[in-house]
Amino acid sequence: MRYREDRQQSAEILRLAVAAMGKQPAAANPTHYALWYEHCAGLNPGLSRVLEARLAAGSALTDEDVWQLHGEHIAAREHRQYENVRADLHRILKDTADETRKAEDQSSRIDEALANHQERLSSPADPAAVQQTVVDLLSDTGRMRSVAAELSARLQASTEEVNSLTQSLQRAQSEALRDPLTDLRNRRGFEQSAADLQMQRGNLEHIALLMIDIDHFKAVNDTHGHVLGDKVLRAVAHVLKSNIKGRDVAARVGGEEFAVLLPDTSVAGAVSLARQICALVSHGRIKRAAGEGTIGQVTLSIGVAVAGAGESLETLMERADGALYEAKRTGRARVNVAEGDRS
Ligand code: GH3
Ligand code: MG
Ligand code: MG
Repeated sequence: MRYREDRQQSAEILRLAVAAMGKQPAAANPTHYALWYEHCAGLNPGLSRVLEARLAAGSALTDEDVWQLHGEHIAAREHRQYENVRADLHRILKDTADETRKAEDQSSRIDEALANHQERLSSPADPAAVQQTVVDLLSDTGRMRSVAAELSARLQASTEEVNSLTQSLQRAQSEALRDPLTDLRNRRGFEQSAADLQMQRGNLEHIALLMIDIDHFKAVNDTHGHVLGDKVLRAVAHVLKSNIKGRDVAARVGGEEFAVLLPDTSVAGAVSLARQICALVSHGRIKRAAGEGTIGQVTLSIGVAVAGAGESLETLMERADGALYEAKRTGRARVNVAEGDRS
C-alpha cells in the first residue's frame, strides 16, 4: 500500500507509534512499526480493533504476535488487492463468454428461420404467402441486427473495463518502483531497470554506473531543516534527469544517494558526464524562504565503474561504491573511477 501522509503528518504518527511500540516486549523492527503506524494513522480499522482489544486486556505483543498480526492485517491486504483484480478479470471474461454464447444461440435460431423462408420461396406460392415471407424475412434480419449490436456493445464495455483494470495495475506497479519525493526510480525501480537492460542485451558489459552521494548532507538538514534538505534532493534529481538521455536510468537508491546507469558508455564518457553533474550541482543555488537568500554550495562525490564481460550488477555496484568511498576519503566534491577501470 502507498502511504499518503506528508512529512509533518507522518512525523506525528511516528511519535505516537514509537511510544506505543516501546511499551511492547516484541522487538522494535519495521514489521512491528508498521502495525502501530497503521493503527495510529487510522488506516487499518480491522487491525485497530485487535490492537485496542489487546491494550484493553493488558495483553502484551510478543514477536510471534507481531508476525501473525502483520500477516493477517497488512500482508494479506496487499495480497487481497491483487486477488480482487484477478477476480474482476475472471468475471469480465465469464460475462463476455456467456453473452457470446447467447448471441450464438440466437443467431443460429434466426439462421434456421431464414433457411425456412428460403425453402418456402423456392416452391410456387400465392402472392399473399410471398408477401408474408418477405415480412418474416425483414423481421428476422432486424432481430439478427439487434443481436449483433448487443454483442458488439457488450464487447466494447468489456474492453473498456479491461483497459481501466490494466491502467490501475500499471499505475500501482509504477508507483511501487518510483520515489515520490524526486519522481526518479527508487532502489527497486533501479534494480528492475538494470535487470531489464541485462535481459535485452544478454549481459551488462559496457554499461557504466555512477554512484552519487551528496556531501555533508546531514549538515544541510541540521542547518536549514528537512524541508530545505528535501529541496536539495529534488534539485539534484532535476540535474540528473536533465543530463541523461535515451536508455539511461537515474534513480534515488538511498536517502541522499543516487545511481545512474549509462548503457554503451566508455569510462571517459561516464567521467565526463559525472564531472558535468558535479559542476552543475555545485553552481546551483537553492533558495531559502523569501528574503533569506540561498543555502551554501552543495557538492557531490561520485564513484564510476564500467561493467566488464560477465560482471553482475552486485559487483558493479560494489566497485562503483568503492570508488565513491575513495572520493569521500580523498576530500569529497570529486569524481573517482573504480580501480580496474582506470586507464
Ligand atoms: P558524507 O559527506 O560523508 O556523505 O556525509 P553526509 O552527512 O552526507 O552523510 P550521512 O550518511 O552522515 O547523512 C545522510 C543524511 O541524509 C542523514 C539524513 O538525515 C539525511 N536524509 C536521508 N534521507 C533524507 C530525506 O528524505 N530528506 C532529507 N531532508 N534528509 C534525508
Ligand atoms: Mg550517504
Ligand atoms: Mg552524503
